[in-house]
Amino acid sequence: MIYLDNGATSLWKPACVYRAVSKAMLTCANPGRGGYDAAARSAEVVYRCRERVATMFDCEPEQVVFTANCTHGLNIAIRSMVKPGSRVVVSGFEHNAVMRPLYALGAKVTVVGRKLFDWDAMLTEFTRAIKQGADGAVFTHVSNVFGYILPVEEMAAICKEYGVPFIIDAAQSAGTIPLSLKKLGAGFIAMPGHKGLLGPQGTGILLCADTPQPLLYGGTGTDSVSRDMPLALPERLEAGTVNVPGIAGLGAAVAYLAKESVDAVARREHALAKVCGEMLEDMGFFVFRGAHQASTVSFLPGENCEEFALGLARQGIAVRAGLHCAPLAHESAGTLETGTVRLSFGADGNFRQIEALGRGILGIKRE
Ligand code: PLP
Repeated sequence: MIYLDNGATSLWKPACVYRAVSKAMLTCANPGRGGYDAAARSAEVVYRCRERVATMFDCEPEQVVFTANCTHGLNIAIRSMVKPGSRVVVSGFEHNAVMRPLYALGAKVTVVGRKLFDWDAMLTEFTRAIKQGADGAVFTHVSNVFGYILPVEEMAAICKEYGVPFIIDAAQSAGTIPLSLKKLGAGFIAMPGHKGLLGPQGTGILLCADTPQPLLYGGTGTDSVSRDMPLALPERLEAGTVNVPGIAGLGAAVAYLAKESVDAVARREHALAKVCGEMLEDMGFFVFRGAHQASTVSFLPGENCEEFALGLARQGIAVRAGLHCAPLAHESAGTLETGTVRLSFGADGNFRQIEALGRGILGIKRE
């Protein structure tokens, strides 16, 4: 199979990830719940991952909270920042993992920057909306549909200038574009462990600079007589047993990426997306391409997107078609009615995948 759906989850993981997961399953008990060897080893595995993540994202280990996925982290962050009626500014490319929690909380949402790949328009409209008065902002780093890299550093600077707290959704950038919690000054940055970070599914990370409200209440192995959740992070947000095998795998993946260098991975993936976009254009398709594009490309096949993707699946090529849980992004790009076919490259990406895609498309035409 040629796997081009890394925007959903990365299928290829370095061998060290599988080893770390199975070692943890064989040797790790519940971390922080006992003084015996298997519990202490488990706590050490979890802390080592926290430290590696903190180094990668330039923050303190205590600011690293393990979640089940990116959606989980975004829900905690959004519920901590937004109250019913809060005025929240978002980009025109947000995923439902941002929009649905905002709607559920009754936030007053202002959408800005709907023009694809246009940083000037984004920054002009974002500044105007923030100046008009906002209680918070939430924006994605990279659009999961179009690979559009948003000007998050500039957006962060605008929020800081006007004292507006903000959350970054790093679902499509963590592990492929360097990020610093300290430099950006975000209240929260949420990310999955299972996409660009190459960890197992069931893992996610919430980086916390602001004080969060717990989403789950329960045991933490600390301060057990208190009726409240501990104030200290990460315990405040990690009620119940954490996903130790997943975190062990994530820790190994982060160590692998740190050695490979996030920049090098990004350069390779972005180059593949560019070449792939050019090939699709040469084949006569409408391709959403532009400056500031990461490793994801969407195109219009000129027929039903889902059927086209099924045709590719029959040729052994895995892609995603439809709205990609991001109707707002499709509305912004004018593709809400049709959806798009999305290709997203991963850390194992190579030019042979693009050649195979080209052959697969010709194969559909012959079917
Ligand atoms: N945000 C964006 C931009 C995404 O692309 C995704 C998943 O595709 C999410 C949030 C949710 O991530 P998860 O599936 O880890 O909850």
